[in-house]
Amino acid sequence: MLYSELAEQFDALEHTSSRLEMTAMLSHFFTTVPPENLRIIVYLCQGKLHPDFYGVELGMSDKLVLKAISSTSGTPLKETEKMWTLMGDPGAVAEQLIGKKKQMTLFSEPLTLERMVKNLLAIESADGRDSQTKKTKLLAQLLHDSSPIEARYLCRIVTGRMRVGAGSMTILDALADAFANREDRPEIERGFNITCDLGLVAETLAEKGLEGVKEMKITIGNPIKVMLAERLPSITQVVEKMGGRCAMEYKYDGIRVQAHIGKDGVKLYSRRLEDLTSNFPDIADALRKQCKAEEAIIEGECVAIDGKTGEMLPFQSVTHRRKKHGMENAIKEFPVKIFMFDIIYSDGIDVSLYPYPERRSRLGETFDLGGQVDMTTMRIIDSPEEGEEFFNEALAAKCEGIMAKSLYQDSVYRAGSRGFLWIKYKKDYEAALTDSFDLAVVGAFFGMGKRAGKYGALLMAAYDDETGRFGTVCKLGTGFDDAFLASMPELLDKYLSEERPSSVDAKMIPGVWFDPTVVLEVVAAEISISPIHTAAEGMFNSDAGLGLRFPRFTGRVRDDKGPEQCTTVHEICEMYELQEKKDSRLGE
Ligand code: AMP
Repeated sequence: MLYSELAEQFDALEHTSSRLEMTAMLSHFFTTVPPENLRIIVYLCQGKLHPDFYGVELGMSDKLVLKAISSTSGTPLKETEKMWTLMGDPGAVAEQLIGKKKQMTLFSEPLTLERMVKNLLAIESADGRDSQTKKTKLLAQLLHDSSPIEARYLCRIVTGRMRVGAGSMTILDALADAFANREDRPEIERGFNITCDLGLVAETLAEKGLEGVKEMKITIGNPIKVMLAERLPSITQVVEKMGGRCAMEYKYDGIRVQAHIGKDGVKLYSRRLEDLTSNFPDIADALRKQCKAEEAIIEGECVAIDGKTGEMLPFQSVTHRRKKHGMENAIKEFPVKIFMFDIIYSDGIDVSLYPYPERRSRLGETFDLGGQVDMTTMRIIDSPEEGEEFFNEALAAKCEGIMAKSLYQDSVYRAGSRGFLWIKYKKDYEAALTDSFDLAVVGAFFGMGKRAGKYGALLMAAYDDETGRFGTVCKLGTGFDDAFLASMPELLDKYLSEERPSSVDAKMIPGVWFDPTVVLEVVAAEISISPIHTAAEGMFNSDAGLGLRFPRFTGRVRDDKGPEQCTTVHEICEMYELQEKKDSRLGE
């Protein structure tokens, strides 16, 4: 297959913002490509060569890509650099310069998808002393045989800036339309939720049909999409919603980890599927030693502990373990414990299908507890009063609140879903009208006065998990200290986008756009109907969306969350409804 067919498809996708059109295009395209290429094509649609959890990146720095563009197009490096700064997009620079060159030379070989992927894999695995030269050469070979459009996407892929707007949900829709029916979409999504591998789902569907997808199983090494909790504004409502009786667990303030304990070792994944094993090697070792099963998949929260008092420390302390350097010291200086709260798989059995009480007992039976490995504190609650008491105990133990969990027969582990089988209630809910929000940065406004010429405020968006799009909710200009303001370009400029990213809906026009990638934690006084924001547009008012009033950055960059894990539009709608109910009660 020629790579040009794929590049043309990317171009068409990039130029449509209608999700329906995108789905129709993709589903048609998927049926026309050779089935053996479908897996890699699905990864490439999202700018990847593997599923996210592989944790390997192409690793080409901007400098190397610039060199490759410069040498292939015969443009001096300085000039290429200048164009890049002006255009903000390596793809656009490559497209223009390769285009110019093509008018002068005609000799090139058509680029097949196979050759393109072969070189990209070689770029990915190049290491050693001359790895940089090797990488540049491999990319230059591809650019030499590329058309301008092919060059555009090549350079975006190798620099991690590929966003044609084909979110996972759109690809799943397209796969259902291409190889099954829309009614089968939940089965196909389940396949994705239990493997986190869209390419594998696509390949299975194309080769074995829906039956093949139904037979997909949880396996060690393939992370599972995490189950998430709903929220309610009072303990009374939590207990009522649970039918008067539920389990309550402390809600620990750490880093969620999904541990895949295999015969030969342990892998730890974050909720956004990053490999965290090297951040918590001591936890990985302890889990392997203390696990009585040969294989198991469990989830827990890694929390920093004060080495002297044994008290739990706030989230910030555990983030020291995210810095890759000096791990030996970090292990000593920042002791960590894992508080396990769920088991999903053990020795060939898909435990996720068991109700919560059975999973909880199995979790306890599967481990020798002690040292760094513990279970979350849990109590069965029969009344709101008991719930309040437990909540206060959780706060006294330095936790951020409680997680209520259903005890009913249907209380399975629902991979990738947010529902009322788990309900969270946090300390913040008591003080403010609303919970904190994890929002994606989609743009920046240049500041005035002291902040002139620098980013002064950010345009923040929530994620709509039904449409796969981002809707704006606030312009954020408060809560930034000088250090954060200074670090903004380094944090954000990698994601600069020449125009509004196709997955973002916005009415406000910022000074620059970013592909939604960086997630920040924001608190606000209130959610209100807003004519200038686009999240939940048309839901509560035909011409307006929902916006946050008095938003403030908490100082916490949520690098444990990707843009698709940020607060959803659905959650903001729910919070808005809760707030309105609360307000009307206050007014009674
Ligand atoms: P939030 O990040 O506010 O949506 O809250 C959900 C997160 O709470 C989960 O993803 C876990 O990281 C964390 N958590 C802490 N304690 C528990 C617990 N006992 N059960 C489930 N999740 C927990």
